[in-house]
Amino acid sequence: MSSVPSSRLPGYPHIAYDDGSLRVEQASLADLAASHGTPLFVYSKAAMLSALAAYQRGFAGRNAQICYAMKANSTLGVLQVFAQAGCGFDIVSGGELERVLAAGGIASKIIFSGVGKTRAEMQRALAAGIGCFNVESEAELEVLNGVAVAADKRAPVSIRVNPNVDPKTHPYISTGLKGNKFGVAHEDALRTYQRAVSLPGLQVVGIDCHIGSQITEETPYLDAMDRVLDLVASIEAAGITLKHIDFGGGLGINYQGDTPPEADVLWHKLLAKLDARGFGQKQLMIEPGRSLVGNAGVCVTEVLYLKPGEQKNFCIIDAAMNELPRPAMYQAFHHIAAVTPHEGSGMVYDVVGPICESGDWIGRDRELAVAPGDLLAVLSAGAYCMSMASNYNTRGRPAEVLVDGATTHLIRSRESTEDQLRLERLVG
Ligand SMILES: *Cc1c(COP(=O)(O)O)cnc(C)c1O
Repeated sequence: MSSVPSSRLPGYPHIAYDDGSLRVEQASLADLAASHGTPLFVYSKAAMLSALAAYQRGFAGRNAQICYAMKANSTLGVLQVFAQAGCGFDIVSGGELERVLAAGGIASKIIFSGVGKTRAEMQRALAAGIGCFNVESEAELEVLNGVAVAADKRAPVSIRVNPNVDPKTHPYISTGLKGNKFGVAHEDALRTYQRAVSLPGLQVVGIDCHIGSQITEETPYLDAMDRVLDLVASIEAAGITLKHIDFGGGLGINYQGDTPPEADVLWHKLLAKLDARGFGQKQLMIEPGRSLVGNAGVCVTEVLYLKPGEQKNFCIIDAAMNELPRPAMYQAFHHIAAVTPHEGSGMVYDVVGPICESGDWIGRDRELAVAPGDLLAVLSAGAYCMSMASNYNTRGRPAEVLVDGATTHLIRSRESTEDQLRLERLVG
């Protein structure tokens, strides 16, 4: 950018310039980078709680449980914020279960999703007393029944149904279409419920769906709700009572001028439909992930080199596809802002990481006035960044800081090379 930007970053109410330098709440990103090094993830607690508050407003007066889909960001300090705010958790592995328990989450508010739960994961989740298994196939139903019978328990189950609606998002994060691996097909759902109630180790408690991620329109939700409620009606007509309806997650955030509906506005419409169809008294569950944390986080990175070229200028930074995998995976967009902007006009760069892959880019064709040693902030980095981080190229994963007003908490230390080598052995 050619001039010092105005103090607010549109769309990021908890991130602003103050005295020419970017802050998350009251914490200076330049100071945090000086103390903790780069790349560094910084999260705003107020941004997380205000995203959660939009859902809480939407459900005011309802029997509803918000289960944070923790795969979006599973760092203990982040989970603790949501646990203390009363959230349950949507987990997809035994490892995530242990994280929730370690962060002080309540087992009975955990729902366990995923197409490939192992017997060991089921045993552990049953023993912990989780609230519900979201079962994704008939085969899984049989295995869960066997595990529960052997443990002399009854596993609470919901069946994930596939409503076959197009969420109009990137194909890799679309999950509710017939060609996707998730859930039980609409036409098989009633039969699967009839099988479930016949099994002694299972107790049918609900129904769920989850149609995709980064959804920015309301129509797919309204359509999915209609499809799911049709099923609820036919399942209950067959004499099977469903205590709860779980509508999954998927609400999008602003990355590049995206304008997803606000959670409370969306739910106002969805609840009106639920009431109109006579299901307003059921317990509701939702599983938001990205929309609770995505815009609460930034990744602070240092410019290492500028490399002008005939066709492209490259701005080489110390963050990479290890910790910011979304551009490489989905050609996704992140805003990139200078932490302490210079006066003067910039140049157009591809912002890339040090990794030996051409897919290792973070932003294309960005106008930046930068010099080596400058700090950049990659925005909307709270979801599906650190939780997807890898050690490719033997790079240690970044540290993470949670900001709460003027207070900062280091919630994860930078991973050392020693940490990375710890589990390996030479052959002799
Ligand atoms: C990933 C996932 C979510 C959360 O999706 P977001 O787009 O992050 O809100 C919710 N439910 C299930 C089953 C998921 O797999």
